[in-house]
Amino acid sequence: LTREGFSSVPNEKWEDIGGLDYLREEFKSKVIGPIKYPEAYKEFGLASQMGILLFGPPGCGKTLTAKAVANDAGANFIYIKGPELLSKFVGESERQVRLLFSRARACSPCIIFFDEVDGLSAKRDMEGGSGVERVVTQLLAELDGAQGVIVIGATNRPDKMDGALLRSGRFGKKFYIPLPSFEQRFSILKVLARKKPVDSTVDLRAIAKACENFSGADLAELMDEAGFAAVNEKLSLDQSLRSILARHFDIALSKVIKSVSP
Ligand code: ATP
Repeated sequence: LTREGFSSVPNEKWEDIGGLDYLREEFKSKVIGPIKYPEAYKEFGLASQMGILLFGPPGCGKTLTAKAVANDAGANFIYIKGPELLSKFVGESERQVRLLFSRARACSPCIIFFDEVDGLSAKRDMEGGSGVERVVTQLLAELDGAQGVIVIGATNRPDKMDGALLRSGRFGKKFYIPLPSFEQRFSILKVLARKKPVDSTVDLRAIAKACENFSGADLAELMDEAGFAAVNEKLSLDQSLRSILARHFDIALSKVIKSVSP
């Protein structure tokens, strides 16, 4: 948290994300637009959404989405894990939160991405002030006065979220990012295939069908495993091999185990 130069505009773009077009539209009108064209939004009496919560199973694009939002808006991006803000020293947690927001304001427009925001309450039960209550209070205060700072929170466990944070209305918009459907898996595979020499004969639809309940991260792993299978074949058998073929995906499918149970 105290590192210098820890914020920058991320490189991830909407084109790098498969299957979440509806989210892109929401973010464009509620977050990116107000950052890029503040006057126009003001004219229509519209303010930017300051806090947004993304929830859903791991590896389905929450971080990717937040980074693409920052990239599109030309905003700096600060990644922070909720629990990192907790300190057992009195006053230290609040100080960290204040520091975080003052840095964000200094490089606004800025998006603070809070991974594992649920972690700000999971420790509430722990004996000895973990500082949760104070962190949440400080966070709410900062959210009120944060000019040009947008907070995107992410959690796999919305049920574990701190009640005060949810009730406050600061996270005014909540979006569920589920495990991808068949069509979404197909979109994700197409996005991932652009970064590798996947042969044009490979039927990505069929692969999408075979990958029920795979997360985006699982599909990325599958694509890598197919690449490894192809490279192995090239180095050990056939030096003329130039692309990833269906048989390499078969090998990959036998290796990748889906990480999220439905
Ligand atoms: P976590 O809860 O574990 O932090 P997350 O939802 O933030 O998960 P990401 O970090 O966005 O997940 O995704 C992990 C990786 O999985 C990405 O870097 C990307 O390779 C791949 N991935 C996940 N979802 C998608 C998607 N919708 N389109 C393309 N790639 C995806």
